[in-house]
Amino acid sequence: MRTEQPTTFVDAHCHLDLYRDPTAIIAEIERERVHTVAVTNAPSVFFHTQNLARGTTYVHPAIGLHPELVHSHGKELPKLLEGVSTANFVGEVGLDYQTQDVATRKQQREVFAAVLARCAALSGKFITVHSRRSASDVLAAIGTGYPCPVVLHWFSGSKKELRQAIASSLYFSVNPAMVRSKSGLALVREMPPERVLTETDGPFVEVAGKPATPGRVAEVLTALASLWKEAPEDVARRVSHTFAALATNL
Ligand code: MN
Repeated sequence: MRTEQPTTFVDAHCHLDLYRDPTAIIAEIERERVHTVAVTNAPSVFFHTQNLARGTTYVHPAIGLHPELVHSHGKELPKLLEGVSTANFVGEVGLDYQTQDVATRKQQREVFAAVLARCAALSGKFITVHSRRSASDVLAAIGTGYPCPVVLHWFSGSKKELRQAIASSLYFSVNPAMVRSKSGLALVREMPPERVLTETDGPFVEVAGKPATPGRVAEVLTALASLWKEAPEDVARRVSHTFAALATNL
């Protein structure tokens, strides 16, 4: 008799701690077997997600300092660098140039450079990166030959920046909002399938007017399957395989 491993899924970027009822979301994650990278926006709240993840199989807490919080929470950088030594997953980190403030952007670059350097020194960290309006500086900070897997979450740069990211061996996580938008889909179409993971960025991304929960990566799998002319199960299998290769110590 052939025994098959049950299919697993991947939500490579989800704000578990920001749902109204994280416990209900965890029940869904475990029931539907969705490997979920539970990102956090500041080191001071990481312990909360660590507690939520305790005893679960599929919740992977990530320590981060969201670029939009660097201005107000920059003093937590030492805590972030210290926390990175024990966490296998890092995020949400990166740059966000919605702000026009030159000093804030500079502070974001300093924090991002520091966390990248720390992860490189430790190696084996899975890093999920935000790059809104800042893709070229994000790519410059990471450079080529960076030693840890970097996943660009909700990538929205130019095609040229996308090609540069591909040449730098980076990965992408694709969410329901991306596959629903024309510009998002145009970028996804150029991503090599073996570099693509799925995400929800829940609860910020909504599906049918409700915050997307990790199980909603199904919608992304369906879109990728039609784009790549493959069965959704085959796409799910490839995404899980890619994730397992990047995320050590699962
Ligand atoms: Mn996010």
